[in-house]
Amino acid sequence: MINVTAQEADNLAAHLQQTRAQFDDANLEKGGSMMVINTMPCHFLSDNKCTVYDYRFAGCREFPALHLPNFTKRIFTTFMHYNRCPIIYNVVEQLKIETGFIETVINPK
Ligand code: SF4
Repeated sequence: MINVTAQEADNLAAHLQQTRAQFDDANLEKGGSMMVINTMPCHFLSDNKCTVYDYRFAGCREFPALHLPNFTKRIFTTFMHYNRCPIIYNVVEQLKIETGFIETVINPK
């Protein structure tokens, strides 16, 4: 789920030469004060590339947010993307080495 702020929607709508209403109708789902992209995968993904990279949302810029607090509370989401996100894959594989997980599996006591 990709959260979108009003400012981000304004910026991307302008970039796409759409009115905010057009952009919102085509791309967003709204609930209360929240807005999220209304499809998975995102409308702007094409050939495994972001077609609006310079205008991508904060959640996209921070993804997979391994640098933010409470990483362990996002484990489920992280593993959902393990097989398609090279950043997550490499971090998890490195964690296996650094925590001794691999050694434990290969040579259980
Ligand atoms: S990085 Fe681009 S394609 Fe990926 S979710 Fe964000 S806006 Fe969509």
